[in-house]
Amino acid sequence: MGLFATREAERLLKEWGIQSLPVNPLAIAEQHNIACQGMPSKSGGVSGMFIKSGDAYGILYATHIDNEGFQNFSIGHELGHYFLPDHPEAVFSGSDIHNSRAGFVSDDEHESEADHFACGLLMPNYLFDPALEQAGDGLDAIKSLKECCGTSLTATAIRYAQRTPEPTAIIVSIGDKVDYCFMSDELREYPGLSWVKKGSYIPRNSVTYTFNKDNDNVRFARQDAGTVDLSTWFGGDTEGKLYEEIVGLGGYGKTLTILTPSDLPDPEELEEDAELEESWTPRFKR
Ligand SMILES: [Zn+2]
Repeated sequence: MGLFATREAERLLKEWGIQSLPVNPLAIAEQHNIACQGMPSKSGGVSGMFIKSGDAYGILYATHIDNEGFQNFSIGHELGHYFLPDHPEAVFSGSDIHNSRAGFVSDDEHESEADHFACGLLMPNYLFDPALEQAGDGLDAIKSLKECCGTSLTATAIRYAQRTPEPTAIIVSIGDKVDYCFMSDELREYPGLSWVKKGSYIPRNSVTYTFNKDNDNVRFARQDAGTVDLSTWFGGDTEGKLYEEIVGLGGYGKTLTILTPSDLPDPEELEEDAELEESWTPRFKR
């Protein structure tokens, strides 16, 4: 869902001839005569606002979070409401001011699409993929890509999971519960895995569970890592190991977990094994 919004951002960047990272969303807004201004006050989790005044448009973006990456993402999100088809009509249907909750926290369709647009705008595949190839794996790669793209750690991690060819999952958690989880298509190829749902409990055998028990780990942005069974997080019968890397997100009170392969079988081989087994199993039914 929302991937068309990512592609639309990538298409526009190519049309504008943008050929290097980082992409500057403020400059893009300026080129389209959209006035941008920082919004100092913190009000109800609003990350930014998209405002219409006659034929003119403006963006206010939250500056209470001391994180340039998040500010860029917020501006990218508001630009999504400007550039995506049907968005201006939808977000200005009842009022000339739209309050945004950027950062994959809202279930609203237009908010989610604007987030995917921001991802594509700041981390377009045609610039992100070559950088990813140079960056290596896991948390270190995500940190270096974050510097390249001028993005937040979480948004970069999500984009990393989308674009890496390795089976990968990104989990954001608060305390003993999952806030949200992204599983890459490559990870979903393993048979019998369950989705890690919003609001579900963090598995007790995970490294994240122990890490989150100490609030200071989160507050002081500490890191930890370890190896866990694939089934610890995702259930199923496949025997395999994941590398679990964790970093506290500081003031957000959240934790970012990155799961990458440590020792995983090839899903295609698993399928062949299953087919072979089936072909040798006598069929008594019917
Ligand atoms: Zn919005």
